[in-house]
Amino acid sequence: MGNKSEELFEQALKHIPGGVNSPVRAFRGVGGQPFFAERAQGAHVWDVDGKKYIDYVGTWGPAILGHAPKVIIEAVKNAADQGASFGIPSEPEIRMAQLVKECVPSVEKVRMVNSGTEACMSAIRVARGFTDRPKIIKFDGCYHGHADSLLVKAGSGALTCGNPDSGGVPSEFTAHTVVLPFNDPDAVEQAFAANKDQVAGIILEPVPGNAGVYLPKAGYLEFLREITAANGSLLIFDEVMTGFRVSLAGAQGKFGIKPDLSCFGKIIGGGLPVGAFGGRAEIMDVLAPDGPVYQAGTLSGNPLAMAAGIAALEELRSGEVHALLETMGARLEEGLNAAAEKSGLPLVTQRAGSMSCLFFTDQPVHNLADAMKADRERFKKYFHGMLAEGVYLAPSAFEAAFLSAAHTPADIDLTIEAAEKVMKNL
Ligand SMILES: *Cc1c(COP(=O)(O)O)cnc(C)c1O
Repeated sequence: MGNKSEELFEQALKHIPGGVNSPVRAFRGVGGQPFFAERAQGAHVWDVDGKKYIDYVGTWGPAILGHAPKVIIEAVKNAADQGASFGIPSEPEIRMAQLVKECVPSVEKVRMVNSGTEACMSAIRVARGFTDRPKIIKFDGCYHGHADSLLVKAGSGALTCGNPDSGGVPSEFTAHTVVLPFNDPDAVEQAFAANKDQVAGIILEPVPGNAGVYLPKAGYLEFLREITAANGSLLIFDEVMTGFRVSLAGAQGKFGIKPDLSCFGKIIGGGLPVGAFGGRAEIMDVLAPDGPVYQAGTLSGNPLAMAAGIAALEELRSGEVHALLETMGARLEEGLNAAAEKSGLPLVTQRAGSMSCLFFTDQPVHNLADAMKADRERFKKYFHGMLAEGVYLAPSAFEAAFLSAAHTPADIDLTIEAAEKVMKNL
């Protein structure tokens, strides 16, 4: 770490728990100390000591167009001239809702919130309100934000810090959360049999990306669609990470599945704090003020956030971004596999378009239990080796790497060169 980053982290530790405002940023998953960001542009971030990195974190997902794209920055500046917040209905909220519906056809009505956490928390409340049933099925390793009842066997920072179950959550609060392994249809069948007429819905990341990345097995999402429908339960896709990324219509577009409810975040805010949840109109209409399910937000539909999100979605919709990202993703994946082969390292890469991850293992990875078997000590060395080479990966073996439209073939090739060099010494 450079001097200035070290100095700032020392100060931060005095005033902010763990020195960070979100745990995984503290580098506990890889050891060492975080660097402090000075600025970010395109595919790069610069730290306060002047070092430049090729960035594969992309502010944890939102930066699919790269950092600070002109269309978004200008939209936000223009919106700011009109006022930073109204708390009164404004036209951009309608435009945003229309755009989400146009991109994601399963969504008939949508409500804006301020984070992915809020989106998932609200979606399960709606599912429970609509079905008048208490139980929610989730899968281990899937992360749906930090709402109490979803913070059970969660991925992302929770996993990195070694506590997928959080302190401060009474067991009564999670009594209605049924946790199952991903990619295991029998487990789901048994859960429905054991909880007859009790299951409000299943929530899942259709491509889990918070315990590394792994893909749904062939037919698995279809199976979940059928068993929820057959039991009068709702299928809830948490597309906070996959939404507008693995395709314009998210994972549901890529796999051709129509969930009842969907949750969004990250890309939908264009870098500002935004989330959304939506789905079938008859379900969404249980929300206040029309229905009995309460949900609200002082800053929800905020004009700056709407401007950023609208600019991001319009740009994604108009361009060839997803096709480009697929090509670049394949180039990176092939390069990393070749690098590992040259060094004789066991490596499994998994990828859905521009989100990917690598596991240092020779076993296939289909769920959290498989992901846990990969060599995390080796990942730590890989992470620090790549950082020293100027490549910033997420500081945890359980996070996805994200490509953006700003990454060039030259950036990818530099990354592969760095990986070859680093893997030689693992
Ligand atoms: C990031 C993430 C969340 C939480 O979103 P926040 O905006 O961090 O609250 C929920 N679900 C998934 C799948 C995510 O990747």
